[in-house]
Amino acid sequence: MENLSLLSNLDLNAADTEVRAVEVWSKFLELIKSNLTELKYSTWFKPIKPKFFDEDTLTVLVPSQDFYEMIFSRFGSMISNSIQAVLGDNGRVVYVVDDSGIADDDNKALDIPAENTKLENTKSEIIQSPVSGTYAAAERTDVTADSRVYGFSLDPRYTFENFVEGKNNEFAVAASQRISDNPGNQYNPFLIYGGVGLGKTHLLQAIANHLLSEKTGVKIMYTTGPEFTTSFIRSIRIGTTHEFERFYKSLDLLIVDDIQFLEKKQTTQDSFFQIFNFLYQLKKQIVLSCDKPPHQLVGLEERLITRFQWGLTVDIQPPDLEMRIAILSKKCEYEKVVVSEDVLEFIALNVKDNIRSLEGVLTGIIYESTFLNQPIGIDLAKKAILRNGPLRGRRQNVDISTIISVVSKFFDIDESLIRLKTKRQEIVNARHTAMFLAKELTNCSLQTIGAHFGGRNHATVIHACKCIEDFIGTNQTFKDKIEEIRETLLTS
Ligand code: ADP
Ligand code: MG
Repeated sequence: MENLSLLSNLDLNAADTEVRAVEVWSKFLELIKSNLTELKYSTWFKPIKPKFFDEDTLTVLVPSQDFYEMIFSRFGSMISNSIQAVLGDNGRVVYVVDDSGIADDDNKALDIPAENTKLENTKSEIIQSPVSGTYAAAERTDVTADSRVYGFSLDPRYTFENFVEGKNNEFAVAASQRISDNPGNQYNPFLIYGGVGLGKTHLLQAIANHLLSEKTGVKIMYTTGPEFTTSFIRSIRIGTTHEFERFYKSLDLLIVDDIQFLEKKQTTQDSFFQIFNFLYQLKKQIVLSCDKPPHQLVGLEERLITRFQWGLTVDIQPPDLEMRIAILSKKCEYEKVVVSEDVLEFIALNVKDNIRSLEGVLTGIIYESTFLNQPIGIDLAKKAILRNGPLRGRRQNVDISTIISVVSKFFDIDESLIRLKTKRQEIVNARHTAMFLAKELTNCSLQTIGAHFGGRNHATVIHACKCIEDFIGTNQTFKDKIEEIRETLLTS
């Protein structure tokens, strides 16, 4: 025992907890192995390494955040049940993302003394325990995780510095800045409403980006109404609703963009209500955006609307001419191009509906001038504006729900069928058409578009668009029909 006496108590405990972790993990693997194919077993369970075992908690290392999300969504309940079968009702698993590559390498993993593995050095982070009712991340004090954003990745350009302030948005900007300096303490919940392309998403993400760079250990979720709905429904399907809500309840900052998409989704609203109350009571910050004032939301429960009004609601209005010019100048500065005042004013005078179109025209001009090697003048600006369609008459707020509704009418099918996974040809055609128009007429990402159609992925959206393009190319009647739907959407 002489050798052992050289080790400190800490080392002894460390070695002990690691041995126990390996034991627990092997028992767990024995249990689950019989229910999995060899391929699933080696793909999903071999890369996981047991690390510590302490009281009823097993800590395991997973190779990446993506891996964690996949395993959690596919096997979350199965893992919970099996761990409880091994450890009893209090048993739980804590996942640690290990981006040092240790989890991939058997030999290296054995070399690491458990307690000495400074998780903060490997930028590892405790994410969440899918088993118990409490969050391991909140309980552990030995880990100082970086602040982290879940959900969609943030656009790094969406900062306060890149946002032009004006009369139309000054309250929204001031409140957003205060919230990101001091989340949860004032203005909770905080809701920004306004038309499409006026900067709601930019501000919401600026709050998250600012917090991320200023504070450590903050757990942030940025999501959208459609995405929240889709993942909630998925959690019902695979039996992980409990974990879904627990994850949301563990956040320090919850941002839900475009909550109008929760309209008429009763069960999703119930879940959101629970999460909202929980976070609110803990003084965790909730930030929301909506395309209209909350009281105008039809099909949103009254109790939710009331709660939104507990905090601060601000609006963003369309920018005036001066502001539109200022935004264009800022964008030129960012892109490091010089465009004359005349041209900026010309664009600002002609593109009024939203800032997204304004940016789109400017980007088009910059691209074309580089491509044609021509100076940026009024001529180029005119062409770019024309190419962007009859902007003046264009209907604002073309959103995916409207597209789905209009397309369904044209195809004479029930709206809800478009979102289902049915393969009936006329429904597939309608779905593809709606995806195609959503890509053309909104600025939503392929991911967001997919989320509106029963949680399909971006590859499906690309495929749909390709099918429609091909069909338009070969069938004049279909081409006319698309034209007609487009007209309806843009002018009604
Ligand atoms: P919304 O979410 O309200 O539809 P976004 O936040 O997506 O609008 O804004 C559309 C585009 O316009 C984004 O690229 C955003 O960066 C830009 N934008 C909006 N408002 C401003 C502003 N005040 N200053 C600079 N850029 C802006
Ligand atoms: Mg938005």
